[in-house]
Amino acid sequence: MSSLPILVLNSGSSSIKFAVYEAYDGQRSKICEGAVDGIATDNGKFWIKDAAGNKLTDETPDLPNRSVAFQLVAHSVLSGKFPKPKAIGHRTVSGSPTVLENQLITPELIDNLDKYADLAPLHTPIAVYIMREALKLFPGIPNFAVLDTYFHRTISEGARRMPIPDEYVDMGVRRYGYHGISYESIIHQLQPNIPQKLIVAHLGNGASISAIRNGQCLDTSMGLTPSGGIISASRTGDIDPGVVIFILKQIAKSEPDTRKAADKLETVVSKNSGLVGMSGVSNDMRDLREAIKQGNEHARLAVDKFTSTIARWVGSFYAELNGLDMLVFTGGIGENDIASRTEICANLEALGIVIDPTRNNVRGQATISADDSRVTVCVIPPAEDLIIVNHVIRLLGD
Ligand code: AMP
Repeated sequence: MSSLPILVLNSGSSSIKFAVYEAYDGQRSKICEGAVDGIATDNGKFWIKDAAGNKLTDETPDLPNRSVAFQLVAHSVLSGKFPKPKAIGHRTVSGSPTVLENQLITPELIDNLDKYADLAPLHTPIAVYIMREALKLFPGIPNFAVLDTYFHRTISEGARRMPIPDEYVDMGVRRYGYHGISYESIIHQLQPNIPQKLIVAHLGNGASISAIRNGQCLDTSMGLTPSGGIISASRTGDIDPGVVIFILKQIAKSEPDTRKAADKLETVVSKNSGLVGMSGVSNDMRDLREAIKQGNEHARLAVDKFTSTIARWVGSFYAELNGLDMLVFTGGIGENDIASRTEICANLEALGIVIDPTRNNVRGQATISADDSRVTVCVIPPAEDLIIVNHVIRLLGD
């Protein structure tokens, strides 16, 4: 088999990250990675690094919109400096009620995702836009959607079903779960010794936690949208539905247009809540730790809410798994915030989860449990691009 260059695209609200990999038999090697960041701000950045981390491009272009940003990416990838991709994998946060499998991107698939954009309103419109552009700017190159919901296709009927009338279930309202590519990458890295009973906490800008049995997802904290489950940087996580109704009624007093009122509610729930909403300081854990050092009680309360909520989810998934062999922390906070890991595990000793303070004093891959811990506790950075590349190769084979 000749080598197969694959482009991985990961688009967010203000950035497009990309990487080119070369696959040859079982080998995967990164050729380059880069990003356009600060789209629609005065702070546009565009950089590309080679596999060794040397900067090949480092610019501050005008990025008035996504179209300009994505053209920069496409022109660079096709400039001849890198092997021309033979396939493209799109990290796709959300599918739809009928799109639960990773698959070839066609105009019909994009229309389907677009139709259900309200199910993941912060993510799907961006994904759909980039998919349409990619079909135009990379003609003749197959594009594949690799879904963050795919890993959660194995959750039980009970976990999937929301306690609401059938009428809404029939519209596709159910637990989908997110961060699936990260979870898959943890399982991939644990091979061949995948613990039977595993909990993975993906704690980044978004935060979720999954109960995994024999490598398959049993249950996960995020629900219909990534706003469910654990409190995160700017999202409420699970909350009394009465609170949402109360806030909507307040908004409706000055916003008679129902759609606009719903959009404002969404902003409250997904952008103005969570760590930033509670602390009034920042959505970044580094800033919050600094504020706590300065004695900021709002920051303390927000972080305590975050860590105690995660501990409660670990407890409930422990019960669901009927025991636990391994707890894994991943994501920007899971990998780097030593204090969060300490605080989350502080009240979990009764479950046999004990971390060693010296081993925990680490950023990046490590085993941090104490010798007498019944549960192995690890920090494992995700390797999401690799999973996307592997899915693309499998789908090309299909
Ligand atoms: P992610 O979404 O996985 O990229 O995680 C991003 C988040 O990780 C940031 O918003 C921070 O809250 C957190 N983070 C990143 N680096 C650190 C660090 N050194 N210490 C504490 N938190 C960090």
